[in-house]
Amino acid sequence: MPGFELFGELEKNEVNDVLDNGVLMRYGFDGMRKGHWKAKELEAELQKTFKANHVQLVSSGTAAVSVALASAGIGAGDEVIMPTFTFVASFEAIMLLGAIPVLVDIDDTLGLNPEAIKAAITPKAKAVMVVQMCGSMANMDAIQNICNAHNLLLVEDACQAIGGTFKGKPLGSIGDLGCFSFDFVKTITCGEGGAVVTNNETYYTNSDHYSDHGHDHVGHDRGAETHPFLGYNFRISELHAAVGLAQVKRLPEFLNIQRRNLNILKEALAEIPEVTFRTVPEGGEESGAFLNFFMPDLDTARKVIDGFKTGGVDACWNYYDNSWHYIRKWDHLKNLKSLFPISKEVKEGLEYLQTKTFEKSDHFIGRNISCLIKLSWTEQEVKDRASKMAEIIKSVL
Ligand SMILES: *Cc1c(COP(=O)(O)O)cnc(C)c1O
Repeated sequence: MPGFELFGELEKNEVNDVLDNGVLMRYGFDGMRKGHWKAKELEAELQKTFKANHVQLVSSGTAAVSVALASAGIGAGDEVIMPTFTFVASFEAIMLLGAIPVLVDIDDTLGLNPEAIKAAITPKAKAVMVVQMCGSMANMDAIQNICNAHNLLLVEDACQAIGGTFKGKPLGSIGDLGCFSFDFVKTITCGEGGAVVTNNETYYTNSDHYSDHGHDHVGHDRGAETHPFLGYNFRISELHAAVGLAQVKRLPEFLNIQRRNLNILKEALAEIPEVTFRTVPEGGEESGAFLNFFMPDLDTARKVIDGFKTGGVDACWNYYDNSWHYIRKWDHLKNLKSLFPISKEVKEGLEYLQTKTFEKSDHFIGRNISCLIKLSWTEQEVKDRASKMAEIIKSVL
């Protein structure tokens, strides 16, 4: 997945262009910047990539989730339904707004289970946030139907899935709002950065203002702008946007490499009857950021991971005991370890985390093995890796 594996001259040229001629901030300083607007250019490129009307760049993927939810008016006491398998950022971004993350089970797509969403809807539920983990997608048709029927906002955390599609639509452009990250380990990187994607003009305008202290960005004099509402600083810098601008132009090349590598690995493992793959919904195409497969049980999955470690197959994980990606080990969040007081409403709203168990999620995450797909591997290296993986898996069965 990581864009950081393949960067060089193009990225340097864009960054030097800013250092030599431009201004480091994305807004204002019109006279000094000699026509250099890297963040605006990157937003225009991303609009094409996502086939979306609006893209607002922000400082990170975590910021993108908070800004997206805020732009649609989600805040104190509102419930946001999200999956047990994600990255802690999804939870944090909801908490930042004083809203309540409602965690529910996943299914064999490794995304939100539509039945579990239905069971979690209360009068306080305002949004469903799907997380398109590891380059693929949840069952989007079913989830969209539920959101429509219950008047819930549909947000996609597509931070790990740039380039994936569902029925021809880019992931992140299917819901009301999509969120992307360009941190250092994502498919394309800015160093740090993120984006909010939407076709809704109001959400876009709100995102634009909210991520820059509420500035209305009307006219060319920052000092004279008005502030329709409270905002914060979630801006991206021109330097970060410059790196992203070089990277986004290479996205098709990155996706080709990822998918070639994924297919080679999948083909090799498909010959082992005990191995099954994550379900990709009909009409979906993975970005190829990760390979995900299931072993028959947790014990075998652990043995495979141990075998990979001793056999020199790197970048593969079983997330059952992982403290970044899966609810079981999120002790600091379950116990609400916070530097500052958390509202009574949120505390009460999160009490369920003390007792609720997620057997269905455990069933899939326990058996799952997730391997990062690197861009720097040659075709021969992937083939060698594929046969080594198959050999190790067979040896522990
Ligand atoms: C990376 C990631 C984020 C957060 O992105 P940052 O840019 O690191 O803040 C959010 N959600 C998911 C699923 C991610 O993988």
